[in-house]
Amino acid sequence: MASLSTRTCLWCGEQFSPTSRRGPSKKFCKAQHRMAYWRGLVAVAAEFLAAGTITTDELRAAYGRARAVKLGRTKALYSTVRAANSRSARHGADE
Ligand SMILES: [Zn+2]
Repeated sequence: MASLSTRTCLWCGEQFSPTSRRGPSKKFCKAQHRMAYWRGLVAVAAEFLAAGTITTDELRAAYGRARAVKLGRTKALYSTVRAANSRSARHGADE
């Protein structure tokens, strides 16, 4: 079994060790593979849309869900930062 620090790239399937623990979880061994993955998703969506497999309404709904997830993550990050700032402000006031 792979260790916690080793990941499998979603694009090429190669094992890699993320170089940084900061930022979003690392799912790709390199930036090109992350970009290829997202471009592939867009191309598939465009093909499905052209073929009528999905509708523009479904695409819009999916965009809304993705945006809600992103906003949720951003709000969680802001509240973490705010909590850390108020802790350090209180700490500063105590001195
Ligand atoms: Zn890769």
